[in-house]
Amino acid sequence: MEALDPGVEALGAPAVAAGTKWVYLTFDDGPSARYTAQVLKILHAYKVRATFFVVGQNVKRYPYLTRRADRLGHSVQNHTWSHPNLRNVSWKTFKYQIRTTDRYVRAQTGYTPRCLRPPYGATNRIVARRAAALGKTIKLWSVDPRDWARPGASVIARRVLAKVQPGSVILLHDGGGNRSQTVAALPKILKTLKARGYVFYPLWCQ
Ligand SMILES: [Zn+2]
Repeated sequence: MEALDPGVEALGAPAVAAGTKWVYLTFDDGPSARYTAQVLKILHAYKVRATFFVVGQNVKRYPYLTRRADRLGHSVQNHTWSHPNLRNVSWKTFKYQIRTTDRYVRAQTGYTPRCLRPPYGATNRIVARRAAALGKTIKLWSVDPRDWARPGASVIARRVLAKVQPGSVILLHDGGGNRSQTVAALPKILKTLKARGYVFYPLWCQ
């Protein structure tokens, strides 16, 4: 395992060696039986660490995949229990969505997620205030190749590689539907970014 400092993100750019370019690779909506294992295998082959924004009810269904992601050095973070639009839920439902997911993640990883990615990126002042009240930092993304719309693996890779810059948060999906194109695009994305001198950090929101 590489000796990456998971706290580097909290320290920000000055902590990173001069000239180092880094990105955050994130996977939403998993774990899924079919695609998460494939994503983990590819990340492992390229020695890349990523962040999995998991849906709690999927962790309940496939706890071993969340455990495996944790054991391989990836960050597992909160993407709610059942993927609702958090702008449209009561405070009671909001708490349930976050805390139940926390509990299932904690059972597999031993820690409580500090990052929250609201489904659909749907946030506002109330969502932000509620997230903060539960100790969460909202993490959206800066590069979205719309892999879920299945435009083709080469298009997914091209969109990521055209937009990525140092500090980018790349949004991909390992659950919630057929993600075979995402899996197929991943080696090309990793190979090219490595060739450009990028390193990969997981997000911890510490
Ligand atoms: Zn999602």
